[in-house]
Amino acid sequence: MAMNTVTETPINLLALSFESMASLVAHLGWPAYRTRQILQWMYQHRVREIARMSNLSRKDRETIQECATIGRLASPTIVRSADETRKLLFSLDDGLTVESVLIPDGKRLTQCLSTQVGCTLDCRFCLTGQMGLKRNLQAHEIVDQVLTAQDGLQPGQRITSLVFMGMGEPLANLEAVSDAIGRLTDPDWGMGFPDRRITLSTAGFSERLQSVARLGVNLAISLNASTAEQRDRLMPMMNRLHALPDLIAACRAYPLPSRRRLTFEYVLLRGENDSAEDAMRVSQLLRGIRCKINLIPFNEFPHAPFRQPTDDAVATFQAILRRKGYDVFVRNSRGRDVLGACGQLGRRFA
Ligand code: SAH
Repeated sequence: MAMNTVTETPINLLALSFESMASLVAHLGWPAYRTRQILQWMYQHRVREIARMSNLSRKDRETIQECATIGRLASPTIVRSADETRKLLFSLDDGLTVESVLIPDGKRLTQCLSTQVGCTLDCRFCLTGQMGLKRNLQAHEIVDQVLTAQDGLQPGQRITSLVFMGMGEPLANLEAVSDAIGRLTDPDWGMGFPDRRITLSTAGFSERLQSVARLGVNLAISLNASTAEQRDRLMPMMNRLHALPDLIAACRAYPLPSRRRLTFEYVLLRGENDSAEDAMRVSQLLRGIRCKINLIPFNEFPHAPFRQPTDDAVATFQAILRRKGYDVFVRNSRGRDVLGACGQLGRRFA
């Protein structure tokens, strides 16, 4: 690695992968275990200053301070929902904003993470999809959402699950997402999150599902339609890239570890995909796949082209799939009043 001089932009230690950190440590002529030590300070102790890395000698701290900093994101703006859900709005270095949502549920606390500013895709029912893609997040910008959220909790409180269900399509930014998952899960130098408490959701990048299997996290697929024609209308770009039959075939071929199952998400849109026939077709499509189904009644946003389904339609849809033997849950959407619910990320306030 080329060494920066003091006049150049300092290296952001948080932006370095394990390998790049190891090269920096080697470049400085330090023993290899320093790599772990520095990473532990950043990901386990969440320090923001090199000066606090107390197992490095004063001299070593000064050496590294000459060329590097820990580039954490500025404190987010927090928007609180009446139901205790909190939306965290982060300003990135280039002035763009990205959102994360904290969802308390009894003893559990789930954080919903963003992977892109805006989104690659153009799903018609999703507000983020209407923004277009501004850019991919870098691995450290994904991990920093968790570090900063954890910093803001009361002592003793902790985030218990992570879901990659915020802004963006995680599999369209696979490299950064994989790197981030490494930092979030590594028990030795990373944050040590168990991989079974992490779920990555995709709109359907079929040929990349195998990569998710390698990461060891849970996989959720946003199905959202019961026919190819319907999916084409609701998720045009995704369906053009990978048509529904390919997606289902990839799900069937997925190397699911024992004791795990896939999750299928299905946004219910009034009069579009919420009929009894749709439920029957979903049951056919997923037959034989070890899975559970999460129904998400459409969350409205200003100028949305769809409407919420009726309670009756939701109940009937669920009942049909249950009768066919599926575990089906209705995801009661949290944080709707601050546009913090599924598909509502992308604008500041309601
Ligand atoms: N791009 C990934 C990750 C985002 S997850 C994916 O599509 O899976 C966001 C989830 O919310 C997806 O299941 C999506 O289908 C759903 N969703 C999007 N807009 C919504 C809306 N307005 N109301 C309810 N659910 C929505």
